[in-house]
Amino acid sequence: MKKIGVLALQGAFVEHVSVLNRLGVETSLVRLPQELDGIDGLVIPGGESTTIGKLMRAYSLVSPLKELIAGGLPVFGTCAGMILLAKQTTDPNDYSLGAVDIRVRRNAFGRQVDSFETELSVPVLGDTPFHAVFIRAPWIEKIGDGVKVLAQLHDGTPVAARSKNVLVTAFHPELTGDMRFHAYFLKMI
Ligand code: GLN
Repeated sequence: MKKIGVLALQGAFVEHVSVLNRLGVETSLVRLPQELDGIDGLVIPGGESTTIGKLMRAYSLVSPLKELIAGGLPVFGTCAGMILLAKQTTDPNDYSLGAVDIRVRRNAFGRQVDSFETELSVPVLGDTPFHAVFIRAPWIEKIGDGVKVLAQLHDGTPVAARSKNVLVTAFHPELTGDMRFHAYFLKMI
């Protein structure tokens, strides 16, 4: 059975565990480098990217994570997770895993009160729109070579993308009961 690690330093990790379990895969919480052993994929949840980044560094997770992702480990970053996986952010921090060639703008839509929900067309998930929850979300403002945009807002802003083994969404697919993004991620494994 596939085992998916869920980075559990801060943020919405419990919700990812619950979706993955409902899809029938085993999960394990990752807080320490040795907890990366034996996982077939990793989810980096939403939360506060600066906090998660600082804790990743404090727990010596940055180098092993970079190595595993460069070696092909499938990884799914949502919201703050996307920020941590991006090569560039508009608010430079020292915590990037540099795993996907995109530039993201943190808190792009404004503050907490500007959080919103919308229906997105996501062709790789089929015809039914995906109900997406954006919470102090980033957006993607530059897409590098080899990165495929999977979803855009009505004005064309990219909010979900994939590059080889890395999947990112600016929104929170673990909060709505629609498990298609997680199922898509499991197919990458
Ligand atoms: N605003 C957060 C950040 O910049 C991300 C919010 C989220 O993950 N929902 O890290």
